[in-house]
Amino acid sequence: MGMDTPGNDATNSRDSGTNKVVVVGSGPSGLTAALYAARADLAPVVVEGFAAGGQLMLTTEVENYPGFADGVMGPELMAILRKQAGRFGATFITDDATAVDLSKRPFSIEVGSESIAAESVIVSTGASARMLGIPSEQKLLGRGVSTCATCDGAFFRGQPLVIVGGGDSAMEEALFLTRFASTVTVVHRRDKLRASKIMQDRAFSNNKISFIWNSTVDEVIGDGKVSGVRLRDVVTGDTTEAEAGGVFVAIGHDPNSSLFRGQLEMDAKGYLLVGDQLTHDWAPGSILGTRTNVEGVFAAGDVVDHVYRQAVTAAGMGCMAAIDAERWLELAGH
Ligand code: NAP
Repeated sequence: MGMDTPGNDATNSRDSGTNKVVVVGSGPSGLTAALYAARADLAPVVVEGFAAGGQLMLTTEVENYPGFADGVMGPELMAILRKQAGRFGATFITDDATAVDLSKRPFSIEVGSESIAAESVIVSTGASARMLGIPSEQKLLGRGVSTCATCDGAFFRGQPLVIVGGGDSAMEEALFLTRFASTVTVVHRRDKLRASKIMQDRAFSNNKISFIWNSTVDEVIGDGKVSGVRLRDVVTGDTTEAEAGGVFVAIGHDPNSSLFRGQLEMDAKGYLLVGDQLTHDWAPGSILGTRTNVEGVFAAGDVVDHVYRQAVTAAGMGCMAAIDAERWLELAGH
């Protein structure tokens, strides 16, 4: 990530023995877990990933993270959190975990050509917003293209906005955006919504929201910032252009949990199960609310949570996971 964090860039200072805590992932949950684990003197190692920092690295200004009255840029917030964790002894490996073995303790995590041993693991690998996959979307991401209405809606006061998707998220975000936008146009690839009846009814009865059916976004138009979209009717093949100050892509998220498939319990969509959600629970009723089905492995943030998905809730869960890991290590006599 190229951040200047002298003194805590740590591959060199990490010893090759078993680490008490290894955190996989470096968004708000991973870095908060690292901060708490570091302050508990557990010298956590953070496998921060090649593209470190999580989803906030893709945003511009964050106005809803408590403590920043004037807002903070997403990447800056992540740099601050990383520095704060480093200050207490967290160390970082700027590479991706490519495999994990949670079948025996110490656990092992493969990173590049290294194998890292861990008495406990905190999984905070997050989720990724699904994207349309067109070049103009990438080019204008953070410049009018957004995957988060809650984060970015308020920057588009009085402007016409387009939202892509037909699920509950798209309806919820469309309704939220009506607070700011002059108009909200939902573009959906079919002629029926996937969203629940109640969300559909709310969207249909809001007079700021209109729908363009059977259509996909061929191109996001804009020079430096979004000015509109080119749409393609998937039935007729016709293309049309619509004016838009912002394009919100709300076609779902995917949890980054493939590394743990077959080892950690997850739901049908790949979100990790923790605490009382577990069906293979090694400690029913335990206070270790972020425990996974593998004793000594904890999980936090968007790889678990598909409901709230906020930086602050992820950070809160990361804190919980670190406290759980600390308690478990103590109970397990490590
Ligand atoms: P979702 O239910 O998977 O819906 C994704 C939508 O995006 C679908 O309409 C899908 O179209 C469309 N889509 C997917 N890929 C696309 C592509 N490449 N191009 C264009 N359109 C594409 O995801 P979600 O809306 O994020 O919801 C996720 C889960 O959270 C759901 O279980 C939902 O009920 C829940 N949720 C609930 C609430 C609430 O109740 N308030 C709010 C948010 C989320 P198709 O319909 O054609 O597949």
